[in-house]
Amino acid sequence: MSTDDFDLFVIGGGSGGVRAARMAAQRGLRVALAERLGHQGLGGTCVNVGCIPKKLYSYAAGYHEAFEEAPGFGWQIDTPPRFDWATLKANRAKEIARLNGVYAGLLKGAGVVQINGFARFTGPHQIAVDTTDETGHPVTQQHRARHVLIATGGTPSLPDIEGREHILDSNAMFDLDPFPQRLAIVGGGYIASEFASIFNGLGARVTLINRGELLLRGFDDDIRRFVGAEMAKTGIDLRMQTEVARIVRTATGLQLNFKDGGTLEADAVLYATGRKPLTQGLGLEHAGVALGAHGEVAVNGEHQTSAPHVYAVGDVTGRVQLTPVALGEAMVVVDRLCGPAPGKAARQMAYENIPTAVFTHPNIGTVGLTEAQARERHGEVTIFRSEFKSLRHTLSGRSERTLMKLVVDTKTDRVLGVHMVGAEAGEIVQGFAVALKAGATKAVFDSTIGIHPTAAEEFVTMR
Ligand code: FAD
Ligand code: NDP
Repeated sequence: MSTDDFDLFVIGGGSGGVRAARMAAQRGLRVALAERLGHQGLGGTCVNVGCIPKKLYSYAAGYHEAFEEAPGFGWQIDTPPRFDWATLKANRAKEIARLNGVYAGLLKGAGVVQINGFARFTGPHQIAVDTTDETGHPVTQQHRARHVLIATGGTPSLPDIEGREHILDSNAMFDLDPFPQRLAIVGGGYIASEFASIFNGLGARVTLINRGELLLRGFDDDIRRFVGAEMAKTGIDLRMQTEVARIVRTATGLQLNFKDGGTLEADAVLYATGRKPLTQGLGLEHAGVALGAHGEVAVNGEHQTSAPHVYAVGDVTGRVQLTPVALGEAMVVVDRLCGPAPGKAARQMAYENIPTAVFTHPNIGTVGLTEAQARERHGEVTIFRSEFKSLRHTLSGRSERTLMKLVVDTKTDRVLGVHMVGAEAGEIVQGFAVALKAGATKAVFDSTIGIHPTAAEEFVTMR
C-alpha cells in the first residue's frame, strides 16, 4: 500500500485521458494516470481497436480497388494478387505497439506518474488502483487527489438475443482468426458501414443487416441513400429493414434467422450496434458522481460532474464519440484547472459544426447541418448538389460516382452544411469545416478559385 497526493488523477489512458494528463503536467500540476490496459497498450480505443487500426485496414482494403483499376491505366497484373491476412495483422500490431510506446514516452516526458491497473473511487478524493508490484503480485495502491478526471471511454453495446455467444464485437475483428470468408454485420452506423467496406475489400463476402431503411442515421438523407448504393456496387449485400431473431451454430457455420423468416449463413457475425459509457466498477457512488439517463457520467458545460472536483471527458460522457472531441474536451478541463495558456483565452467546446468522416469505400465527409436539420432550423434553404464520375474512373473501369452537396441558408447566403461521398471525402471536408466555422457564405465559396483538376473544386464551382 502506498499513499500519494496528486493535483489531478486521471482514470483512463485513451484519447482524452492521455491528452489531459500530459498537458496538465506540462502546465505544472502533479498528475497521475491509471490505465487498466484493457486493450493491450496505452492510447485507448482509438489507438488499439479504433481509428488507427481501422484506417490501416481501410487502406489495405483499398488495394483491391487499385488492382481492379490498374489495367485501365496500362498496368498488366499477370499473376492475380493474393491477400495475406496474417501479414496485415502482424504489421498492424507492430505499428500499434510503436504508438503505445510513443504515448508512454509522452506521459513520462511530461512527468506524469503512470500506473497500470484498474482504478476506482473509494472516497471523494480517494482512488484505489488494483495493480501488481515489481514481482508481479497483485496489490492495491491507495492515492489521494485534489481533482479527478474520468476518461474511461465506452464499450460495445450488444443486444440480448438468442445466440449472443456467437456474436463478435468490433474489438475482436482486428485479430480474427481465421479470416472470415462469409461475414455478417449487424448494424447500420459508423462501425458496421466501415467494417463492411473493409472486409469486402479484403475479400470476404459481406452481408450488412440493418434494421432501418437507410444506413447512418443522423447523416444527410441524400448521403445515406447514395453511399448505400455505392457500397452495394462494390459487392456488399445490404439487407435493409431486416432484424435478427436468433443465431444458431450449424455444421457449416453460423445461421442467422431473421424476424421475417429468412436465414443467412456466415463464418463470423459482427454486431456493431452502438457503444455505451464504461463506468462499471468505478465506485462513483463513493465520490458523489451521478449518472445520466443513459448510464453516462453527467457533466455540465465545464465538463464538471455532480461532484465539483471530479471532471469527465470523452465517450464516457455519452456525447459525441469522436477522438478529436475527447481531445478538445480534455483541453477545456486543463484550462479550467491550470488557467488558460499564456496569451490565450480559456478554451470552450463548440458542439456545432463538428466535421466527421466515415471510412466506407467510397468515404463520406460531412460538416454542419443536414438538409432536413437546416430546413427545420432556418426555414428556406437552397441546395446545391452535384453527382458525377470522377476523372479517375473515366479509365479505371469502375462505375463509382461522387456526390457533393451544399446546404445554404437562403436568407443570409451562409453555408450551413457541406456533405460528400467520394474518394478522400474526409480530407476534403476538413478544409471546408474551417470555412463553415468562419461563417462563409455561398458568395465566398463562389469567389474562391478552384484547384484543377480535383473533385474538391466542385464545391466552389456549383451554381
Ligand atoms: P478511450 O479511448 O476508450 O479510452 C478509455 C481508456 O480508459 C481505455 O484505455 C480503458 O482501458 C481505460 N479504462 C476504462 N476504465 C478504467 C478504469 N477503471 N481504470 C483504468 N483504466 C480504465 N473516432 C474518430 O474520431 N475517428 C475514427 O475514425 C474513429 N474510428 C473508430 C473505430 C472504432 C472501431 C471505434 C470503436 C471507435 C472509433 N472512433 C473514432 C471513436 C474513438 O475511438 C473514441 O471516441 C475515442 O477513443 C474516445 O476517447 P476516450 O478517451 O473517451 O476513451
Ligand atoms: P452507431 O451509433 O454509429 O450505430 C449503431 C447502429 O446500430 C445503428 O445503425 C443502430 O440503428 C443499430 N442498432 C442499435 N441497436 C440495435 C439493435 N438492438 N439491433 C439492431 N441494430 C441496432 O454506433 P457504432 O457502434 O457504429 O459506433 C459507435 C460510435 O463510435 C459512433 O457513433 C462514432 O461516434 C464512433 N465511431 C466513429 C468513427 C469515425 O469517426 N469514422 C468510426 C467508428 C466509430 P438505428 O439507427 O436504427 O438506431
